Amino acid sequence: MTKVLVIEDNPANMTLAMFLLESAGHTVLSAIDAETGLTIARVQKPDLILMDIQLPGMDGLEATAILKADDATKMIPVIALTALAMKGDEERIRAAGCDGYIAKPLAYKEFLTTIKALLQTQSDAAATT
Ligand code: MN
Repeated sequence: MTKVLVIEDNPANMTLAMFLLESAGHTVLSAIDAETGLTIARVQKPDLILMDIQLPGMDGLEATAILKADDATKMIPVIALTALAMKGDEERIRAAGCDGYIAKPLAYKEFLTTIKALLQTQSDAAATT
């Protein structure tokens, strides 16, 4: 059973992400702002974080940089959820420490494939250490 934290302020995107993740058998934790998401990440240690980039207050890139600078959370993969699917944005997203990104609107198949691949990479890494 994997625990996935979704940090997303848009209710429709949150509902869809939760539905897809729960359908795939994941336990879903949710936060609608970065500050709450950071607290949940530290306490619950999810296996994966889906991070919206545009959030009220602290944005998703800043929140990712904080997670990746903290020994307690830096090993958790972060996938950015972004409506900005242009080249420069991918570089910004990678620079902040995100391990991947998914463009919105969420496409069902791409969404689950990306998540599965990242969780697989992580469990392979865990098995060899
Ligand atoms: Mn947003």
